[in-house]
Amino acid sequence: MNKVLIIGAGGVGSVVAHKCAMLPEVFGEITLASRTVSKCEAIAASIKERTGREIATFQVDADNSSETAELIRKVGATLLINVALPYQDLTLMDACLEAGIDYLDTANYEPKDVAKFEYSWQWEYQERFEKAGLSALLGSGFDPGVTNVFTAWALKHHFDEIHTLDIIDVNGGDHGHAFATNFNPEINIREVTAECRHWENGEFVETAPMSKHQGFTCPEGVGSYEIYRMYHEELESLTKHIPTIKRAQFWMSFSPNYLKHLEVLQNVGMTRIDEVEYQGQKIIPLQFLKAVLPNPGDLGVTTKGRTCIGNVITGIKDGKEKAIYIYNICDHEKCFEEVGSQAISYTTGVPAMIGAKQMLSGEWKKPGVWNMEQHDPDAFMADLNVHGLPWTCIELTPEQAATFTVA
Ligand code: NDP
Repeated sequence: MNKVLIIGAGGVGSVVAHKCAMLPEVFGEITLASRTVSKCEAIAASIKERTGREIATFQVDADNSSETAELIRKVGATLLINVALPYQDLTLMDACLEAGIDYLDTANYEPKDVAKFEYSWQWEYQERFEKAGLSALLGSGFDPGVTNVFTAWALKHHFDEIHTLDIIDVNGGDHGHAFATNFNPEINIREVTAECRHWENGEFVETAPMSKHQGFTCPEGVGSYEIYRMYHEELESLTKHIPTIKRAQFWMSFSPNYLKHLEVLQNVGMTRIDEVEYQGQKIIPLQFLKAVLPNPGDLGVTTKGRTCIGNVITGIKDGKEKAIYIYNICDHEKCFEEVGSQAISYTTGVPAMIGAKQMLSGEWKKPGVWNMEQHDPDAFMADLNVHGLPWTCIELTPEQAATFTVA
């Protein structure tokens, strides 16, 4: 029987735990551990009510690898699903090496004191995982995650060579608050205020945050939105592993209201990640801001509308130019009905469960540290259709694809 240990009881952790519990034949025994055990217990109660299954809960400090390794041995897990924060990636990879189990996460490691997004730290674990005969799967959320698998699947089934990649993440949902972030505010704000980088002719080109934007009309009536070019971590692994890519960009939709609030917060210093002295205590403004913003895990009750995330890909097939768009549309209210969470947590948690399923089935179990596009995409793509994130692939005309050739 497979035993998994999920670390992190936030918005994403809740979805992963619920979705794993719905597949008892794959996830035989589930343990959920986090910093605040009461959050694990609340999730366990919801799972019991929705599925009738019992899951175990524990308190753990994921910054402490030996404490986590001890918990791994205690519960007898063979796979750790890390849905805590990116800061914990390395200590949790260390814990897995110490206890001799496989590892999965949804976001690349970030140091706490500098907003730096790159895989180098985690790729350095390649040899250690390989020698130990253990597998680590990096970035098994939606973006990164499904967007990487979409690209690998497109290369396998639609192209001889991929030349351009535009990943477009639209959240057409409305949570009813003046300002809130859809996932952990600290991580979200660090990401969107960072310098933009996109891939062009063999190198990353840096531009000012949010300086490039354009309109985008989603399919199936999701609506038209302004999308902003920004850096996102899958650009690094995809351009490394698919070297024919000449240009790769990531775009995310933001409402004028979100941008207005973000600008003010930045201007008054509330998004700073260095320490400031306040009444004899050192505080980090962005961490304080997180404490006063709505908890993303609680947004499900009020959020309405749909997300639309997908890839526009161009390239060559049999000597001819070709363009496709692969996307998923996800309804916030339907997610809430199924697992009690909004679609951002859902679209991250479901792929984490599916990635874990591929590892446990042996399909994606290969010693070493891997990004999603390095594995065969077919079984994962089939599972998306079965487990709540159905996708559609349409062919585009050159004119439609050219919308993304803006310099
Ligand atoms: P939340 O902040 O809602 O949840 C994080 C959880 O981790 C909380 O329960 C928190 O505990 C726990 N945690 C934090 N530090 C520790 C620690 N030292 N020891 C134990 N537990 C700890 O975040 P989300 O659920 O929104 O996001 C989870 C992850 O998913 C993040 O890494 C995020 O970047 C990633 N993500 C990935 C996406 C993708 O598509 N790839 C999209 C969205 C998110 P406490 O409750 O005590 O604070």
